[in-house]
Amino acid sequence: MTAGSKQPFHLYVHVPFCRSICYYCDFVHGVYRKQQADAWLDALKQEIQARGLPEKLKTIYIGGGTPTSLSHEQLETLLSLLDGKEPLEYTIEVNPGTLDDETADILVRHGINRVSLGMQSADDALLKRIGRTHTHADTIHAVNCLKAHGITNISLDLMYSLPGQTMDMLKRSAEAAHALAPKHISVYSLTVEENTVFGKKGVTPLDEDTEADMYEYLRDTLPAMGYERYETANFAVPGYASKHNLCYWDYRDFLGFSCGASGKEGLLRYDNTRSIAEYIKDPLRRKEYPLTKEEAMFEAVMMNLRKRKGLGLQAFEEMFGMSVQHAFGAKLERLLKDGSLRIDAGYLYCSDRGYDILNSILTELL
Ligand code: SF4
Repeated sequence: MTAGSKQPFHLYVHVPFCRSICYYCDFVHGVYRKQQADAWLDALKQEIQARGLPEKLKTIYIGGGTPTSLSHEQLETLLSLLDGKEPLEYTIEVNPGTLDDETADILVRHGINRVSLGMQSADDALLKRIGRTHTHADTIHAVNCLKAHGITNISLDLMYSLPGQTMDMLKRSAEAAHALAPKHISVYSLTVEENTVFGKKGVTPLDEDTEADMYEYLRDTLPAMGYERYETANFAVPGYASKHNLCYWDYRDFLGFSCGASGKEGLLRYDNTRSIAEYIKDPLRRKEYPLTKEEAMFEAVMMNLRKRKGLGLQAFEEMFGMSVQHAFGAKLERLLKDGSLRIDAGYLYCSDRGYDILNSILTELL
């Protein structure tokens, strides 16, 4: 495995603007200002010109921030920069309340075929309490608008363990999400970072037991609604697992463009600057972290075990020139023996019990 031996086929582009800032959010973003967004677009053009993009890409994911916080003209410019790559899966993140017919038109014209929509909850009072500026009616409108424009591959995000959220509220949100017939649902529990509005106010998530109950509810209910749990927090109608996110969990290489984006090429990991102002001044500013082969092997196992399917034994051997059994020796043996991990049909994967204690399995392997 050598650094930068082959150009990756997966691209992530970070749009660092939002119309307003949610109380729990720790992503790289600023409140949208037209002039700054214009300067950011110029910087992105420079980065693309300097670093280059592969001729074809399998997946593109435009995340944020809120990509649809850009003006129509800016969104058009952004997507034009990526035209002609013919990705199999082309995703953009959208916030309900930032989608209108013209935006949906622009997305379709540039080949976007998947939208990840930040629904979070169907409870308007709860949305307000966490600093979201949309309502559930906005989510319904966004889904209908996308479908009317032919984008049916829609993923919804749902949050749990939110302050003031009850199990009944979560159940109603899961049912409301299901009623919109998305192809994919991602679930997130609240984490409170110090530098967020919640962090500064001392707001905390719900207690651990309630959080675990909520996760178990989603884990058991979404599959009963027809969504396979293919990763610890991701559920999809068969055939609709996120091809882009699978590139992270398969431990494949990917490019990251713009401030706040990261990338991995062979044994090199990099983080672009997190500051919008710095990025505008120097779009090529980034920190690089060379990985040792041992670190990369551990990361590969850590990412792959998040998938229900687990780690492909042959893929691991092709990547590192040795088997996973050889790489992890007695530690792996122990976990196989106690039934936390299994090997079957060419995959190393967590048993049902192991999946619930994935973190301790990884600690053991480290
Ligand atoms: S919309 Fe998303 S990125 Fe923007 S502040 Fe809210 S959670 Fe953060």
